[in-house]
Amino acid sequence: MTKCPRLIIFGRQGAGKGTQCALLIERYGAVHISTGDILRAAVAEGTELGRQADAFMSAGNLVPDEVMIGLVKDRLLQDDVETHGFLLDGFPRTEAQARALIETLGAAGFDLAVNIEVPLATVRERIAGRNRADDNSEAVDRRLQDYEDKTMPAVRWFGSIGKLVEIDGVGAEDEVFTRLSNVVDSHL
Ligand code: ADP
Repeated sequence: MTKCPRLIIFGRQGAGKGTQCALLIERYGAVHISTGDILRAAVAEGTELGRQADAFMSAGNLVPDEVMIGLVKDRLLQDDVETHGFLLDGFPRTEAQARALIETLGAAGFDLAVNIEVPLATVRERIAGRNRADDNSEAVDRRLQDYEDKTMPAVRWFGSIGKLVEIDGVGAEDEVFTRLSNVVDSHL
């Protein structure tokens, strides 16, 4: 058994990040920290966090950095993360979030950031072919544009500190997973 992976997964909407994260969790057993899932659960439960996040999310906007940074810092402090490692999915989404994360973890506090790269035109086709409640075209466009404007700088920032690997996300799910797990294995 290799050591617990501590990974940050990037990929634009429709890149297959959800599927690949599920496969990674199955294989490596790390704690899946999906900020989208945490926020949706908070909205459903009507917690204070959920009340703060709801309006941003339903408009297809990002939740403010300070809310997200506090949330993820708290989650990373929990014991299961220490024991099993983590897979960060949906965070960081901005360069400010990325810098705050590395301030918290230290550069040695994670193994790798991976970007599952699928071209914009391809994800647009994929999203047009699926049927999700939050996939109305205006919200999709907003989220894709935010990804280019706000999240790509965070992706590039991990590149600038030498911690980013790009994976070709075009192809069958199992082919993409083979590429991904080979990269993860070689960094653990
Ligand atoms: P998607 O990738 O389809 O946008 P997610 O499930 O990752 O979906 O997130 C759903 C929504 O939650 C986002 O559109 C955004 O409003 C909010 N959200 C999730 N993670 C973050 C984050 N790190 N920073 C800001 N907002 C976030």
